[in-house]
Amino acid sequence: MISINKQINFNRPFITGKEIIYIQEVLNGGLISSEGEFIRKCQDYFEKRYQSGKALFTSSCTSALEMAALLLDIGPGDEVIVPAYTFTSTANAFLIRGAKIVFADSRSDNPNIDEKSVEALISPKTKLIVPVHYAGVACNMEELMRIAERNGVKLVEDAAQGVNAFYKDKVLGSMGQIGCYSFHNTKNITSGEGGLILINDASLGKKAEQVYHKGTNRIAFNRGEISKYEWVNKGSSYTTSELNAACLWAQLEDLEIIQERRGKIWKYYYQSLKPLEEQGYLRLNDVPEFARHNYHIFYLLLKNENERLQLATHLKNKGIAAYSHYHALHNSQYFKTFYKGSQLDNAEYYEKCLLRLPLYSGLQEEDAAYVSSVIASFFR
Ligand SMILES: *Cc1c(COP(=O)(O)O)cnc(C)c1O
Repeated sequence: MISINKQINFNRPFITGKEIIYIQEVLNGGLISSEGEFIRKCQDYFEKRYQSGKALFTSSCTSALEMAALLLDIGPGDEVIVPAYTFTSTANAFLIRGAKIVFADSRSDNPNIDEKSVEALISPKTKLIVPVHYAGVACNMEELMRIAERNGVKLVEDAAQGVNAFYKDKVLGSMGQIGCYSFHNTKNITSGEGGLILINDASLGKKAEQVYHKGTNRIAFNRGEISKYEWVNKGSSYTTSELNAACLWAQLEDLEIIQERRGKIWKYYYQSLKPLEEQGYLRLNDVPEFARHNYHIFYLLLKNENERLQLATHLKNKGIAAYSHYHALHNSQYFKTFYKGSQLDNAEYYEKCLLRLPLYSGLQEEDAAYVSSVIASFFR
């Protein structure tokens, strides 16, 4: 029999306590749809702090990415370069518009897109590159921006995991024409489901408001700029409820605290597991110099798939939830039905060897100490 004295969850959203107060305020106020104060406050927060052209609070990061596809007129005949090691939405958003997805490999030192491999994937049909900032660690944005500019293609940042993380002094999501965030339950700050689109290219601002609001000029109408609103563009409903924004606002107010707590656990893991890396048992997260990350994920890289599976089982037997992450998309069941692509060695390596440890704001240092000791006991 295995005795389990501790149970450590993989993730738990951090609840500040103010969410319920703000949600109650919304209910009392009688305006629960997408045109209230909390959505405005959340959007202002990102526009002001990030000096972005326009921020629109969406129902998810998936819908923000889908909106980006509409805004940039991505369609049949276009090619979009996406890293293979990512979530389905990064590719789906453009695929459902009829674009061909061209998968790029990851870097060898971290799971982000290998910028050196990107230029070879560009063809006359390429419209867009979609870098994903995995674990809130920045991609090499200067190089990607150079490549995009040189080849006349656009950049949409999938910064779903990248809220409050930086490339040098630039916040993630602010460097491409468009940036997309997620506030899903599993992310650093959450509204349960939710997202945000940052429109950095000012020329897209007006169209963005229309596409966001069912193809109408309702937002301009709300500002009093026109006397009636009507159908002026293609679009859909990417809006969400005030209730979600009320929840997110509480989290934004405590963002510093949330980040500090995550950082403490992340650094504890790093220090306590460093000796195992030095002894050659595993690799730890590698954060490039240009990146200031947000402690979204702490992962280990094992020597092979079997060792990753064994360690995950060992942790599970001790009450600890630890998970691998993406099934590389170029190898997915769906994509393989119409695509025979090349091998992407690094993406496949992260699929097999990467293991994520529990990390959330409510985790205690003693919990992290327990996790580290269980990992050490596996190698002993
Ligand atoms: C979480 C995540 C998404 C999807 O976010 P939703 O808000 O759940 O739609 C997309 N891309 C990446 C890289 C993610 O981590």
